[in-house]
Amino acid sequence: MTDTAWHQADTGLLFIQFSHIAATGLVEHGITTRTGGFSTGQWATLNVGYMAGDQPQHVRANRRLICESMGLTLDAWTNGRQQHTDHIERVAAEDRGRGAYSSEDCFPGTDGLITDQPDILLAAFFADCTPLLLLDPVQPAIGVVHAGWKGTAKGIAARTVAEMTEAYGTKPEDILAGIGPSIGPCCYEVDEPVIDQFADARFGRCLQPAVAEGKAFLDLVEANRQCLIHAGVNPTKIQTVSLCTSCRTDLFFSHRKEQGRTGRLAAVMAIKNSTRRR
Ligand SMILES: [Zn+2]
Repeated sequence: MTDTAWHQADTGLLFIQFSHIAATGLVEHGITTRTGGFSTGQWATLNVGYMAGDQPQHVRANRRLICESMGLTLDAWTNGRQQHTDHIERVAAEDRGRGAYSSEDCFPGTDGLITDQPDILLAAFFADCTPLLLLDPVQPAIGVVHAGWKGTAKGIAARTVAEMTEAYGTKPEDILAGIGPSIGPCCYEVDEPVIDQFADARFGRCLQPAVAEGKAFLDLVEANRQCLIHAGVNPTKIQTVSLCTSCRTDLFFSHRKEQGRTGRLAAVMAIKNSTRRR
């Protein structure tokens, strides 16, 4: 189901939102584009990654703008150091702000964050990899995940669902999931070592044959969608975005298209304070 909404915040920033998540009124969420912000050159203009070589003061100013768009301050921004793992961290109230001002104090080796605490903006970074946003509207609890081909192959989508169940009692069938824009099957040609990882039935039909021998086109959005369904998420509660980051470098950063000389988009979500359980 593709039912994506564009949302322009008061700050002028443009976000992709998922209509079913927005409709709950429980969270602030969105996926940024590269427009707006302060970065210049290859990072122009809304780069959120300290590790991409951009000036840290520009990254901080960009992140501040994103937080403002959500009615939060930069102190709420919390992220991990993404290393294509399937490692998920549970974010507690005292972890609020880890990674916001520098990458020094972020969660090491972490590609997924979950929390049931309000006012913590879980953030992950992207330049072609797949953003996953998960909301359990019953608890409530949330998850924000970075899924490149390695994390996707390791089943990080299913692992996040399992972690939310273990940590917060989330029922998979309650989850509302949004899968953001990534490099599409139109542009993502992969070779045999990658193809072999996606032969598993739980990823569905995510590979399309390429002309070149031993190559195929990989659909990361479909692989993650199938992985979520396999983990018990209702397919009618999964929304996807049918935009390719490599085709649309006017909107997005693309590591492959821009040969590594690029910035990072953000996927962010926070539970609103008013929904806190008492
Ligand atoms: Zn494309």
